[in-house]
Amino acid sequence: MPDFLTDFHHTTTFGASAGGGIDRQAGTPEHGAVRAWFRRRAEELGMTISVDAIGNQFASIEWIPGAPHVFTGSHLDSQPVAGRFDGTYGVVASLHAAASVAEDVASGRLVPTQNLTVVDWFNEEGCRFEPSLMGSSVFTGARSLEDILAVADNSGVTVAQALEETGCRGTDAIPPVASYVELHIEQGRRLERAEVQIGAVTGNWCTRKVRVTVIGEQSHTGATLMSDRRDALAAASEIVLCVERLVGHYPEDAMVTSVGRFTVGPDVPGVVPGRVELSLDLRSREAPKVIEAWALLRSQIEAVGRRRGVTVEIEDFDLRDAVPFPESGVELTEKAAAGAGVSCMRLETMAGHDAISMNRVVPTALMFVPSVGGVSHCEREFTADADLATGLEVLTRVVGRLVEGAPNWVDPAAEAGTSCSGSWSE
Ligand SMILES: [Zn+2]
Repeated sequence: MPDFLTDFHHTTTFGASAGGGIDRQAGTPEHGAVRAWFRRRAEELGMTISVDAIGNQFASIEWIPGAPHVFTGSHLDSQPVAGRFDGTYGVVASLHAAASVAEDVASGRLVPTQNLTVVDWFNEEGCRFEPSLMGSSVFTGARSLEDILAVADNSGVTVAQALEETGCRGTDAIPPVASYVELHIEQGRRLERAEVQIGAVTGNWCTRKVRVTVIGEQSHTGATLMSDRRDALAAASEIVLCVERLVGHYPEDAMVTSVGRFTVGPDVPGVVPGRVELSLDLRSREAPKVIEAWALLRSQIEAVGRRRGVTVEIEDFDLRDAVPFPESGVELTEKAAAGAGVSCMRLETMAGHDAISMNRVVPTALMFVPSVGGVSHCEREFTADADLATGLEVLTRVVGRLVEGAPNWVDPAAEAGTSCSGSWSE
């Protein structure tokens, strides 16, 4: 049986990119191939596969008929030309953690009170099909299955079609879930700066993602007088800079903003662009800051539109409230790190993860390993083998304790989150 590192490095052959990363967007043949590998590998480990209607894959071990399952996992899809660690690490580590726990149960070293399921969530990244956290959001009921199956990519292929084509559109009943744990690379540089090996995540940042469409008037780049132009690209460019400068109103590292998507129409040399679509996001630990910053940004965007005589359409497409992870899960990670003899610190996640979806419905723990240089969503993303192995050891300890029935989780609903949706009403 291949060891963890061999398995992990093998997954990078699915959708390998020239620069040492992967390109495995959700529902593509490359994604389908690595997901088929996951099913084969889990079956070799004696696990039972089930696939739900939104294409989440579950590999289960049942020791106690009818008892709820500890879920552990992450995602196998990637951003375009991205790093090979994001998501995939957590899925492969979960398979190996489950195999270790199963050995401990078989040998009598561990007495289970709950069953165990490894999960491979569909479309965490949300690049080919928006929004992100798709599979986990449908699983938890935060989004409707019908709406998400109908989402289409830029060439009109729907989620339903992509799932059919990759053999991942299931109808299976899924085991009842008791709790969820996810291991992920940090994607930032806080662990590296502090020279700490494990991050115990205490909560997520509030995130607001907005789609902006700027509509001007298409015209001739040569013949149209400057005073007659309604240039959608020039207006959209000003909006991009407004988004970036927004962080200047807040203390350093209190907020991050960006425009990640920018589509120009018609995008040819001889035409003043008539239409630009862009997607922006604002993130902060504090929901009131996101609400306030969005109100300011919105007024700036509208002012750009008025001054330049273009129409601006604004549509919220993803709002993620800041919610703490249960303290008992954070402590479980800390104890597991101490047991493994490695350092651990508390931090928040600025990035989205399936654990954030799951934290709405079941007790959830999220843990990080360091990312070299804090880079992610690019081929340069890197975590050393030793750190990957350390994360697996801590995850295995946490999963083992959960299968045994610990800890006494605090109900996530009891710890109220903070909303970043504000008074948005259009
Ligand atoms: Zn990820």
